[in-house]
Amino acid sequence: MGPPGAGKGTHAKIMSERYGVVHLATGDLLRANVKAGNELGRQAKAIMEKGELVPDVLVIQMIRERLAEKDAKAGFILDGFPRTVAQAEALKKMLQDLQLKLDAVLDFKVSEKVVLDRLSGRRVCPECNANYHIRNIPPQKEGICDQCGTRLIQRKDDKPETVLERLKVYEAKTAPLIDFYKKSGLLRTLNGDLDVEPLQAELGQLS
Ligand code: ADP
Ligand code: ZN
Repeated sequence: MGPPGAGKGTHAKIMSERYGVVHLATGDLLRANVKAGNELGRQAKAIMEKGELVPDVLVIQMIRERLAEKDAKAGFILDGFPRTVAQAEALKKMLQDLQLKLDAVLDFKVSEKVVLDRLSGRRVCPECNANYHIRNIPPQKEGICDQCGTRLIQRKDDKPETVLERLKVYEAKTAPLIDFYKKSGLLRTLNGDLDVEPLQAELGQLS
């Protein structure tokens, strides 16, 4: 949990490698569908570019299929899902069906100033989804992905107008989930303003 720019993707990726579990990022999965130009991608594209949420039914179906794949049995980190109360309820049901359970819900608290700085400086690899920041996490060679050599781009939804819309959507639709998970006793709150390394240290103390 956490607004755009909170660091969810960065830390989810580090932890998925450390623990050998899959990283399921709904944003990445949706962007892959947009790139593939399939039906789901066609429906999602314009919505994502505006910074709105893709309809629950589509996202829920996509995650249900992905969680049922074999590799998820060994563990998974969800990133960007659930984002609405309806998605959280659907997740609960699908985990019951698959006899899986959540161990923790991490909530990244972050100030608006930090979010705006991180998103305006974010650059992503359209090929392998690696994330960079022009100052905080620069690639070795300017504008080029360290992992695969592809030219980095700025996401369309990282433009300032769209960022403000995404923050509004987060407050309205996703922030209410914090209470939902607080009640379940699974919630761990983190200081998302911290740089990558100190936050990793904080995360290490949770396990
Ligand atoms: P961020 O968390 O930085 O906003 P993501 O890559 O997670 O970026 O999401 C990008 C966009 O993909 C969202 O603005 C939204 O349109 C769509 N999206 C991602 N996850 C979901 C979800 N669980 N439900 C609905 N839409 C989603
Ligand atoms: Zn790459």
